[in-house]
Amino acid sequence: MIPEPSGRLVYRCLHCAGEHGIEKLLYICPDCGSVLLLVDAQFDRLKDIPGSTWQKIFDYRRMLNLPALNGIYRYHEFIGPSIPLDSVVWLGEGHTPIVEASAYLQGRAGARFFFKNDGQNPSASFKDRGMASALSYINYLLAYGYVDEILAICASTGDTSAAAALYASYLHPRVKSAVLLPHRKVTPQQLSQPLGSGAMVFEIPGVFDDCMKVVEQLSENYNVGLLNSKNAWRILGQESYSYEVAQFFEYDMKNRVIMVPVGNAGNITALMSGFLKFYETGIIDDLPMIIGVQSVHANPVYRYYLEKHPEKRRFEPVHVSPSVAQAAMIGNPVSMPRVIRLADQYDRLAGERKVFVVEVSEQEIMDWHLVANRHGHVSCTHGGECLAGMVAAVRQGLVDDSHSVVLDSTAHALKFSNFQEMYFENRFPAEYEVSPKPELINAPVLVHPADLDAVPESGKPLAGESLDRFVSRVSDEIANRLDLKKV
Ligand SMILES: *Cc1c(COP(=O)(O)O)cnc(C)c1O
Ligand SMILES: [Zn+2]
Repeated sequence: MIPEPSGRLVYRCLHCAGEHGIEKLLYICPDCGSVLLLVDAQFDRLKDIPGSTWQKIFDYRRMLNLPALNGIYRYHEFIGPSIPLDSVVWLGEGHTPIVEASAYLQGRAGARFFFKNDGQNPSASFKDRGMASALSYINYLLAYGYVDEILAICASTGDTSAAAALYASYLHPRVKSAVLLPHRKVTPQQLSQPLGSGAMVFEIPGVFDDCMKVVEQLSENYNVGLLNSKNAWRILGQESYSYEVAQFFEYDMKNRVIMVPVGNAGNITALMSGFLKFYETGIIDDLPMIIGVQSVHANPVYRYYLEKHPEKRRFEPVHVSPSVAQAAMIGNPVSMPRVIRLADQYDRLAGERKVFVVEVSEQEIMDWHLVANRHGHVSCTHGGECLAGMVAAVRQGLVDDSHSVVLDSTAHALKFSNFQEMYFENRFPAEYEVSPKPELINAPVLVHPADLDAVPESGKPLAGESLDRFVSRVSDEIANRLDLKKV
């Protein structure tokens, strides 16, 4: 029940299949330069335990109060079996709520669905799952003397740097962090996060893809720990999302659909990898459908899968345009080789096509994002992108009445409130291609009756008759605006 270090994690190259030990931080294959995945060379041992026993183990661990098992490492044998529990860094990530949409909203969107609120992670995005894994591994390297200190570095569309800086700061002073952001392409909230965590913050002209090039150059030539999802530890930690969904639905994944926004494609990689592992060990009997969603302004993965014949598909990076799904504004996703490999394996094991990518407009993303939050959700724009994607999938007949859908709200609404503000104030620059729908606009109403000569100010409260008059006039005005009837 309480896991001990086990298995043998190795980096495996997706191109040449070469394997490399984990005592060193690796991001690309030292032989051929391709991306890596972490695999457990002894994974098959997990199949000796029946799936129903694994279910009991996870359900039992849910009742424990052991910090190391409170987060993603509840699924230790699947997340990072080599990591001893005393190296696990848990800052409250994981086990985010899965909230069913109201009957009204489901009716309006045309399918049964839930939001999984990954914005309720500590740095307010799903990136914390991957960072908990990457920094637990770094903590392990430090504790067991493989390294003395580490400068952790990443390029980011905002949320990676927030998560990296947070988890690195917990291990300060042995871990220090630096983040590279595209200048003016992250929201003020996202910028405040790494600054608050004490990271060195560098702003670079250009878009994320340019930052990524710089950070790759740094990680290949200098002694730094790269925390982008090129780092396979990130992927491993993000697999926890799949495990949590499976456990939430009592391991019944029949007719379920998982929708996820796709940027650098690390998250969709992790989703496929996670469900595959649970399927291969008999913990789930069905592989859910997985649908990636991209904006027309950043759609390289969608374009790749437009070609129906797998042997004719060719990957072409695209130039991105401004997107309200800003954290997914990526034209050349680092994890594309992983996606191609895993989607192929996923479809083959399922015996039918189960991985799809749909495309949505910026207008649809913004409208559905606002509609979701008008009905009880705290979805970010990327959650809105998922909902818009589900509506598109219903339209295309991919999703129907037999399905229930889990939408990934990858971050908290508050991180991207500037887009809501631009919508409400009709200030979207033309290149976004978003025009506000009047019925979705909301704005505060200032109540200051013209005939009031005295109103309270900070440090200068009203009293007596002038306070009475103020309260009565303002109440009347509000009652009037709300058309209230006297009791
Ligand atoms: C990083 C991020 C994405 C994109 O995820 P990838 O793994 O890069 O595909 C989507 N939404 C939010 C909020 C993110 O921070
Ligand atoms: Zn290789």
